[in-house]
Parts: sequence; structure tokens; C-alpha cells
Amino acid sequence: MANNEFREELDPQSSVNKVIGIVSGKGGVGKSLVTSLMAVKAMTKGFRVGIIDADITGPSIPKAFGLSGKLGVTYDQLMVPAVTNTGINVVSTNLILENETDPVIWRGPVIAGVVKQFWKDTVWNNIDYMFVDMPPGTGDVPLTVFQSIPVDGIIIVTSPQELVSMIVTKAVNMAKKMNVPILGLVENMSYFECPDCGHRHEIFGKSHIDEIAKKEGLKVLAKIPIDPEVAKQVDAGLVEYVQAPWLDEAADSILK
Ligand code: ADP
Repeated sequence: MANNEFREELDPQSSVNKVIGIVSGKGGVGKSLVTSLMAVKAMTKGFRVGIIDADITGPSIPKAFGLSGKLGVTYDQLMVPAVTNTGINVVSTNLILENETDPVIWRGPVIAGVVKQFWKDTVWNNIDYMFVDMPPGTGDVPLTVFQSIPVDGIIIVTSPQELVSMIVTKAVNMAKKMNVPILGLVENMSYFECPDCGHRHEIFGKSHIDEIAKKEGLKVLAKIPIDPEVAKQVDAGLVEYVQAPWLDEAADSILK
């Protein structure tokens, strides 16, 4: 389906300008962190921002923003996004389940159906940037989700412990298949900066992200350090208050 047909699926009162998908090769590499922080950067720049948490089986966006409870529903059965402290609009399965600890055991097509509802049966008011936290991996589920939302560009998040070259190639192939441009790569957990001596330690081994980016003709948008303070703030639902200077350049180059 062409992107403009997707857009027409939105409720007539809704509008979304740009949709950015955040993908990774597997769970736990920081895809949700990058989604959350890019949304915060966009908000800080004065844009109207939404997040669709499409990582249906591992939804971590609400917790990072300290959101709980249930999404509102309009009289004509449209979902109303939850709003974070700084005004970011969020939808997530964790905000529709009876209990947020309920496991989600839906199969791919059901997951894609839910994501599609997040896109078209939700009141999105003049969103400049919509960030989509995609399901991890490059298999069937993320692919079906790609077919449910008109993504304008993707950011690939990797970490040095992975088989990065293989993951990036798979993600590149997925993006090609879906005809979606890749905005660039983000390497998370890239290094640890010693608070005492300032030396950068590559805890998970040497980074190969620059070579891989060059080989694939992609841009390295950011290298994010391992920072226990970040983990603590995310755990406490305070991701909006994380200082993330290492994402400034990426935000400046993408969010205009
Ligand atoms: P994913 O969405 O890829 O599954 P998350 O963004 O949920 O991964 O990150 C997994 C966990 O690791 C979270 O608890 C998060 O706060 C933590 N984390 C991610 N990146 C960092 C980092 N650079 N420094 C410290 N903790 C991190």
C-alpha cells in the first residue's frame, strides 16, 4: 500500500506528518531507549510528538515515561493516547491490558492488527513526528508491522555484543523490501566512560560500526555509552529527564 493511502486511513480529525521506525536485531539492545530519547529530543525542539509502542510482546515505553492505567476511548471508539509529563502522546499494549503483567501471546497477524489500530483508530492530533518502537528482529512480525504503518524512515539500533554485520545486512534488506529509507545506525552500549579518569572502555569489545556503516553506505548517527544513571532513570520512569548529549547530533540531523 502506498504511503498516502496509509495516511488516508487515519481518522479525518487526525494527522501525522513524519513516521520514524526504530528497529533492532534482537531485544534488549536499547531500541526503546533510543525511541524514547529521540521523542524527547523532538519534543524539546518544539515538535508535536507521538510514540506507537509496537514492541507488543515487550512493551517498555510506558514504564520509561512513568505511565500507567488505561488509554481513554472516545464515544466513537477511538483510542486517546496517554500523555507524558512533557506532552508526548503514547499508545502501548501495556496501556490496554487489564494488568500490565499479563503476558501477550498473540501471533504475528494479531500483533499487526493491534499496531494498525494504534495507527488508524487513535486520535492523533497534528503530530509532527511519530516514533514507532518496532518489534525486535527482522522476521515476520516486524515485517507485518511495517506493512501496517506508513514508515518514512528507520533507525537501526545495534550493540557491540551482537553479530552486528549480519543484523545490519538483514535490516537493510528488510528496509529495501519495504522501500523505506534508512536514516542511520545507532550503536548503543558502545563504551563506558570512567567517571574518575574519563577513559573510554569498550566493555563489549571493539566497535565495528564504522566499518559496517561504510560498507553499507549508511550513516552512524550516534554512539551511546553504557551509563548506569540512564538505566536508573529509565527504571524510575524518568526518561524525559535523561541528559543525552550523545543523541544531539542525530536529533539535529533527522528532526528539522
Ligand atoms: P530494547 O527496547 O531493545 O529491548 P531497552 O531500551 O528496553 O531495549 O533497554 C533494555 C534495558 O537496558 C533497559 O533497562 C534500559 O534502561 C537499559 N539500557 C539500555 N541502554 C542503556 C545504556 N546505554 N546504559 C545503561 N542502560 C541501558
